[in-house]
Amino acid sequence: MQSIGVLMACPMNYYLEQQLEKRFKLFRFWTVPDKSLFLASHKDSIQAVVGDASSGADAELIEALPKLEIVASFSVGIDKIDLAKCKEKGIRVTNTPDVLTDDVADLAIGLILAVLRKLCESDRYVRSGKWKKGDYVLTTKFTGKKVGILGLGRVGMAIAKRAEAFCCPISYHSRTEKPDIKYKYYPSVVELASHCDILVVSCPLTKETHHIINREIIDALGPKGVLINIGRGPHVDEPELVSALVERRLGGAGLDVFEHEPNVPEELFGLDNAVLVPHVGSDTVETCQAMADLVIGNLVAHFQKKPLLTPVV
Ligand code: NAP
Repeated sequence: MQSIGVLMACPMNYYLEQQLEKRFKLFRFWTVPDKSLFLASHKDSIQAVVGDASSGADAELIEALPKLEIVASFSVGIDKIDLAKCKEKGIRVTNTPDVLTDDVADLAIGLILAVLRKLCESDRYVRSGKWKKGDYVLTTKFTGKKVGILGLGRVGMAIAKRAEAFCCPISYHSRTEKPDIKYKYYPSVVELASHCDILVVSCPLTKETHHIINREIIDALGPKGVLINIGRGPHVDEPELVSALVERRLGGAGLDVFEHEPNVPEELFGLDNAVLVPHVGSDTVETCQAMADLVIGNLVAHFQKKPLLTPVV
């Protein structure tokens, strides 16, 4: 397989890079100064693209690679891949479901606790020496709070399971009501937001879910409500979220993802009701290795003409 050209869209994981390099002819796209010139001279050798949550394969890249057979994403979300174009051209697409579910769900619970119990803020309180001058403020209890899940898939279910251990009543909204699920289903996001204390966004980013969290939803959550986003940044109308947090019309937010990441609105930096982490949902050593192995497994299967391990298309 050493002659098969694999284009890695951006830096994502050193272990993955090493494994790709061992098996294929690896091109690191981010190191290329003149991308058009590079694509023109390597278009006949690149048969695979490896992308992730920040960079995948858009129509322009797909059109520039006539020998492209497969796009393998080092992520479960495939919003950076032009799926319609891949289908049209018969290009296979794979992602990394399941192996990252636990980590993302763990982080969602971590964010809930960090927001409600002000973990980051109280850590700063100790480090700055303020404790010597007086005790920290009272915070908000998590156990028993009503948790709403937007997108009850693999990650959403894993979050629900964890929240159940905190005695939280769970409800959810997805496009379809899930059979054999005991959680309460709401047919709209606004109804879900009106009936929960904590709303967790865990649906895929699509045209339909872009800005699915807007002013109406934020108002329905209200000044005691908390928004957790471990899905994708563009699910949330970010200027609306920022003003609601600044004006305390929303109780708090725990955010792993941002609309224009890695750019984060500076208004959030000074707020004690927001906890911000840099898109690290699946970023543990163990999970990234499992994701990398799945990317490699899919590429090897494809080029050996075997069934893909985790096909999307
Ligand atoms: P999944 O198993 O496919 O679940 C997605 C769920 O969202 C399904 O229950 C689906 O149900 C629902 N959904 C789809 N479109 C919807 C819509 N328009 N409105 C409401 N619900 C909708 O995917 P997953 O493995 O749980 O991952 C979910 C997402 O999490 C990924 O797409 C990714 O963007 C994000 N993620 C983020 C990180 C991170 O690092 N922060 C890591 C992993 C995943 P219906 O089909 O019934 O609507």
